[in-house]
Amino acid sequence: MPVATPATQAAAPGEVALMDWETLRRTVAGCTLCGLHKTRTQTVFGVGSEQAEWMFIGEAPGADEDRLGEPFVGRAGQLLTSMIRALGFKREQVYIANILRCRPPNNREPSPEEATHCSAYLQRQIALVRPRIIIAVGRIAAQNLLHSDQSIGKMRGQVYRYGPDRIPVVVTYHPAYLLRSPGEKRKVWVDLKFAREVFQRGNA
Ligand code: SF4
Repeated sequence: MPVATPATQAAAPGEVALMDWETLRRTVAGCTLCGLHKTRTQTVFGVGSEQAEWMFIGEAPGADEDRLGEPFVGRAGQLLTSMIRALGFKREQVYIANILRCRPPNNREPSPEEATHCSAYLQRQIALVRPRIIIAVGRIAAQNLLHSDQSIGKMRGQVYRYGPDRIPVVVTYHPAYLLRSPGEKRKVWVDLKFAREVFQRGNA
């Protein structure tokens, strides 16, 4: 993982939307927009192919991610990698990011303020990657990305659209939930098969 040198100044409003990868990485590495900068070890930017057709968006870094600076590297991350492999990809062929770039203490849920502060970075990452499909991994990712308060059970099996390019978004469970409820893994496979159909339909 390349380590970005932190920016010395906060980005002006609207500036993030024009940033290239390097400037965005540097800005995130030095971000103090929300209180989570006080407790993080480092920011967790995102990882994968900058030309990926598939983008996976989760909730926030956990302890392993905070230590290593990469999203989805703990046990839940291994399960996400298995999900990606089940679709026929290597992990490095997709792009993986989170709603937040800093770890919430004790792995609590992101607050709405934190998610709002961090959203410009995610928007810019999506705009730079220009994926053909987004998988929202877990309730927090789905609700924040789609500005919804619906339960994940209601959101599964539907195609949402994101941003001006109307990128299709499909929702599934977070692998951390699957570690607690392994019986639900079958549902994730159903969601991934559905996502593949949506992707193929969009590229037919
Ligand atoms: S979570 Fe996002 S907005 Fe908050 S300090 Fe980290 S990078 Fe900045």
